[in-house]
Amino acid sequence: MTEQILKVQKIKNGIVIDHIPCGLALKVLKILGIERDIGSTVSMVMHVKSKYGWKDIVKIEDRFLEEKELDKIALVAPTATVNIIQNYKVVKKHRVKVPEHIIGIVKCTNPKCITNQREPITPEFYTVSKDPLIIKCRYCERDMEADEIIENII
Ligand SMILES: [Zn+2]
Repeated sequence: MTEQILKVQKIKNGIVIDHIPCGLALKVLKILGIERDIGSTVSMVMHVKSKYGWKDIVKIEDRFLEEKELDKIALVAPTATVNIIQNYKVVKKHRVKVPEHIIGIVKCTNPKCITNQREPITPEFYTVSKDPLIIKCRYCERDMEADEIIENII
């Protein structure tokens, strides 16, 4: 725990995404578009032992998250916590929360769904179950599970 706090404090300003399920750190970076974002220093710690089992941690300097990005993280890593660091201190800590209503952040896997036609319709889903994660398309009613959701985040 002490070691972990030290790791967190190495960042002057930015975010630390902690308690990411093991192996999903790269997915979290991908959905945040970090590979295209050259303005941030990113560090990743994978396969860290914690009280609740193995986890990954991602640290991003000089970057803050929008509400939509927090929702995306929740869909990929529902157990994650986001720490906001300012001047080496954790100023805010919050657990991500799977939204009840998901608008414009996941693409429907049904090729026949109206949201995949040439219509200007934003994909919308309702959360059916949080554990395990299942969401339902508002338009074609297809259910999507965690693995599919991760691959179809816009
Ligand atoms: Zn659909």
